[in-house]
Amino acid sequence: MAQRVAVSDGTNKKVSRVRVVVRLRPYMGTQDEKDEGSCVRGLDSKNLEIINWRNATETVKYSFDVFHGEQTTQQEVFLSVKPILPHILTGQNASVFAYGPTGAGKTHTMMGTLNQPGVIPRAVREVFKMVNAKNDDEGWDYSISMSYLEIYNEKVLDLLSPGSQDLPIREDKDKNILIPGLTHTTITSISDFHKHFVPASLNRTTASTKINQRSSRSHALLLLKVLRTQRAPPHRQQAGKLYLIDLAGSEDNRRTGNQGIRLKESGAINLSLFTLSKVVDSLNSGTAVRVPYRDSKLTRLLQDSLGGSAHSVMITNIAPEYKFYFDTFGALNFASKSKLIVNKPFVCETVPALPVKRVRDGQEAGRSATEPQ
Ligand code: ADP
Ligand code: MG
Repeated sequence: MAQRVAVSDGTNKKVSRVRVVVRLRPYMGTQDEKDEGSCVRGLDSKNLEIINWRNATETVKYSFDVFHGEQTTQQEVFLSVKPILPHILTGQNASVFAYGPTGAGKTHTMMGTLNQPGVIPRAVREVFKMVNAKNDDEGWDYSISMSYLEIYNEKVLDLLSPGSQDLPIREDKDKNILIPGLTHTTITSISDFHKHFVPASLNRTTASTKINQRSSRSHALLLLKVLRTQRAPPHRQQAGKLYLIDLAGSEDNRRTGNQGIRLKESGAINLSLFTLSKVVDSLNSGTAVRVPYRDSKLTRLLQDSLGGSAHSVMITNIAPEYKFYFDTFGALNFASKSKLIVNKPFVCETVPALPVKRVRDGQEAGRSATEPQ
């Protein structure tokens, strides 16, 4: 499913394209004080449309690798990520990132709940399953470790070692990105993983309610490393990395009127997200002279796990209510710019109006178009 389309980065090196998945969360009445219904809806497994603010009798249509409608299950979302996982058992790198405005479902998609686990627990479970299924005859020993970090205000913080200082980012002679001082915890089972991950996540959530909703302003990165060692001489080693990332909210903070420290945070967040969009764009346009990885901590960290020979999936989370309207447009434009990467211009056309706004039960009108595919 995740076919790798090689494009040139302008230096004759082949780079993988980023697979773009859009997920629309269900309509929530609590998010719609004016009772306006939905302003966006799915059309089929690749396309969606949103009301055109310049002319409400029109909609704007977007096309992506995969569109997941409101009824999509966590397992179905995971299936769009699953094909990249086997690569990390053979020394390759991969990344999955959830992008979108605060409230659109990034954390639900990545972490999920006990009853509806998200991409992170499902991916970790799958990696253990693949490693355990390896035949001894293949002659490799595997070990899995995890790190969990946060980028907040352009500082790199170790979530497995609370109270730690801003960590440096380095590159070794083979162009691997390293974070000296970052905790790497060896894990031997999924329950072992939860033992470390759950308290660290809770810490982050507690801190967030105290400090200006920090969790919506910082990037949380779970790093899973698979190291395999050949049993026989010359005991070759291969290390594969998987980043699972819940990005900061993509909302335009200038509009929400943040000031002072909040404004500074917003600037830093916007710098990282802005740089991420430039990196994705320039990696894939085939015309870039320089990929600006070094312009933000987030992209510097991802330098060996996004583009190049790495495998990446971007899940753009969007919400259907009107109050998210402009941020939804922003997120779709970010995602469709990535889509341009593949040298297939994104479809952006106007079509006759559908009575989305007038349908009270948003869900009713949307349902037939948003059944799980
Ligand atoms: P974000 O992390 O992008 O700020 P959240 O994941 O916290 O957004 O989601 C906002 C709210 O919407 C939460 O109450 C969450 O449970 C709910 N939600 C998000 N996505 C879904 C979904 N696909 N199905 C049901 N509820 C969802
Ligand atoms: Mg969140």
